[in-house]
Amino acid sequence: MITDTHSLKAFFDAQLAPGLEMLRQMVSINSFTSNRDGVNQLGKLTADFFTPFGFQPEYIPSTNPEWGNHLVLTRPGRSNKTLAMVSHLDTVFPPEEEIANNFHWQVDGDHIFGPGTLDIKGGTVMMWLVLAALRAKATQVFEDVTWKLFWNSSEECLSPDFELVCRNRLPAGTIALLVFEAENRLGSNRLMVAARKGRITWKVTVKGRGAHAGGNLKHGVSAVTQLANLVQRIEGMTDFSKELTFNVGRVSGGTVLNRVPHEAVAEGEFRAFSPTVCNEAKAQLLALAGKGDVRSRADGYPSEISVEITSESRPWPRNPGTDRLLALWADCGRELGTSVLAEDRGGLSDGNSLWDAVPTLDGLGPWGDNDHCSERSPDGSKLPEFVEISSFVPKAILNTLAILRLLS
Ligand SMILES: [Zn+2]
Repeated sequence: MITDTHSLKAFFDAQLAPGLEMLRQMVSINSFTSNRDGVNQLGKLTADFFTPFGFQPEYIPSTNPEWGNHLVLTRPGRSNKTLAMVSHLDTVFPPEEEIANNFHWQVDGDHIFGPGTLDIKGGTVMMWLVLAALRAKATQVFEDVTWKLFWNSSEECLSPDFELVCRNRLPAGTIALLVFEAENRLGSNRLMVAARKGRITWKVTVKGRGAHAGGNLKHGVSAVTQLANLVQRIEGMTDFSKELTFNVGRVSGGTVLNRVPHEAVAEGEFRAFSPTVCNEAKAQLLALAGKGDVRSRADGYPSEISVEITSESRPWPRNPGTDRLLALWADCGRELGTSVLAEDRGGLSDGNSLWDAVPTLDGLGPWGDNDHCSERSPDGSKLPEFVEISSFVPKAILNTLAILRLLS
């Protein structure tokens, strides 16, 4: 067991340079979700970085042929203890955007700018640092545990199959699933992610009845008018007291101007932390389907509303398994003199689909800011994604100590 945090710090201080060199190589490969070859190249490089630790790679083709392979690295242990770590390979930046915005690896003082430096290639380097330390400084523990490392090829597009890739490879009783998305901060407090909202996307289609707008308006049933009513009702389903938000993101309808529009479509999403609130909201939305209140003024022919749930990312609510992990990280933080707090985030991660399979904690990555942004303004008021170099070592110490305590 490591009790000497000074020797751990010295270890990470020495490993930071090779870790950042890995990061540089990873960032130099464009791995936009739709850049299948880039994602696969990064998967191979990532596996190469971990093979010296005795990991065996498995490349699992995505069910979407447009996307790259998921990566799973396994190192069998001598005991029946399994610990899982999760990261992803893809970024949100197309190659053309990186070129257009001159967005690439760029060290500036304590910041490294570049696509994926924070989300989430810096998180992958954090995994490497922690495993390197465990292997060198707590060899017994490292050898005992079965390590399962997962990289989603298409996290930024909510790949639907990654959940099963993980679930099928995680034995019952897996101790924890640690997600290496970036840390957030509140003042000097480190924020780890202990809950995330679920996100359900939907599509509402209204069928009306086309008619000549000049000669036969009464006969027509305007799908646009019906949709406008529905948009108001859907927006009205937002309930801040339940942390439930509805957003109508896109509407379209009608064709030419001399025609009563026969079809209109709205698409959007809603989000909430509580599974019950999500289910109630879904039922409320689906209940809009059926005959509409906009009808023909000639014969009462009604508009017809259909509602479709187009994707569903379950919520990750606060739960005892996560809270137990959080308490461990907070305890270790206290001993190291830093405060670790929980953050309930609105955005999604792979934790959403896995927290109920294995106790999950997220936010183990380094700190930085402006993830998903590639632009820079001349006055510096707009800066692209960066990771803070000095955030790696203290966070790696925290993660390593907490993992050791978890395994002891
Ligand atoms: Zn991410």
